[in-house]
Amino acid sequence: MADMVARTQALMTRLRLEQLGGLAWLPVTSAPRAHPPLMEWEQAVKTCRRCRLCEGRHHTVFGEGSPHASVMFVGEGPGMEEDLQGRPFVGAAGALLTKIIQALGLSREHVYITNMVKCRPPQNRVPLPDELASCRRYLDAQIALVRPRVICTLGRTAANALLQIDAPVGALRGQRHLFGDIPVIVTYHPAHLLRHPEAKRETWADVRQLLPYLRRGR
Ligand code: SF4
Repeated sequence: MADMVARTQALMTRLRLEQLGGLAWLPVTSAPRAHPPLMEWEQAVKTCRRCRLCEGRHHTVFGEGSPHASVMFVGEGPGMEEDLQGRPFVGAAGALLTKIIQALGLSREHVYITNMVKCRPPQNRVPLPDELASCRRYLDAQIALVRPRVICTLGRTAANALLQIDAPVGALRGQRHLFGDIPVIVTYHPAHLLRHPEAKRETWADVRQLLPYLRRGR
């Protein structure tokens, strides 16, 4: 009971702060719920040996978040921490992505986070074209099942592979992209921001473009 009261008070405080800040809306997104079709795909990934990346993995990293998210973040592939924990974006770059999500007024549970490939490439190298192609069916299934209002790609590999183009992030950001009928916002990978903190301003300008999709939230 005390826990419930504390949570209610925290929510009321947040509402008051957001009203004071002039925020007249709250993102209406669903907390994670069991989603059998997604869980079936996750099971398929756990035993997948469609490409060589299965050989060095500790865990597959399918993705996580709300199966009804308005926003889907797509990165390149799992790193060392992600491979060890079986969860996407949990290392230092993941902490930065979490801050970005929180700055949008959301939590990780209200968005969906995944990668182009579900197994860690050795030494964190960029996934090879045949690996990206082998793994693509899983991302396509995730997009089809979650049906996000908008996709935000993180880094060059994700943007290029999703949009089937070949260009640096700097040339793609700020432009209108579509995956089918889903708008795609291109921005830098959080790992890039750790090396180049000066790019945070541009990244914030990119992710602010997600806000209109949250206002119509699900
Ligand atoms: S990276 Fe994708 S295609 Fe390759 S083994 Fe892992 S799950 Fe299968």
